[in-house]
Amino acid sequence: MSMIGQVHVKNNQYKIKGDFHHFTPNTPIRNADDAWKLMGVTNPRDMTYMHSYGGEALFFESLSQGRLMATRCDNPKCETKGSIYQPFRIHCPDCLAKMTPIDMTNIAKKTAKVHTFMVCERSGAFNILDKPIKFINIEFDGVCTILMSYLSVGEPKMGMRVVPIFQTLDPTYTILDLAWVPDGTEADQLPKGFSF
Ligand SMILES: [Zn+2]
Repeated sequence: MSMIGQVHVKNNQYKIKGDFHHFTPNTPIRNADDAWKLMGVTNPRDMTYMHSYGGEALFFESLSQGRLMATRCDNPKCETKGSIYQPFRIHCPDCLAKMTPIDMTNIAKKTAKVHTFMVCERSGAFNILDKPIKFINIEFDGVCTILMSYLSVGEPKMGMRVVPIFQTLDPTYTILDLAWVPDGTEADQLPKGFSF
């Protein structure tokens, strides 16, 4: 029995356990219109990729705990000092200083609004969201950027107030742990695993 690859960090090094690639038998590709002659083979490939979050790890850890983190430039020499960025970014785009993480969960709960939206009937490979996907761009008071996410309950409208929900029960530690619902949505209407 093989075990799917797992990783932790100790002494500043990756420590890996299990299998990071898996051999799967190939199969022939044959021509149904010509006596099933051999045309080639399939080459199944499956691997586990180690995706480092670097300075953004705090953002994803916080989602799993029901908190939305942003960053703020606190460099006194920066022309745009005090600007708050959501999505979370490490360095200020104006002065390149390392920014300060801040918890903006309450700002999101009290001020998030749909800036614009699009509804997608089709999706790309590996999509696991229910279709149609209601992508929303979200604006917040006092935040200089717009966040792209999706509405998981109801229908989007321009300017509609929305609140964040978090997958804290069984987190994926990805952006899928964050979604939005119309303000006033009841807790029992939320998708499985999500809470306010
Ligand atoms: Zn700056």
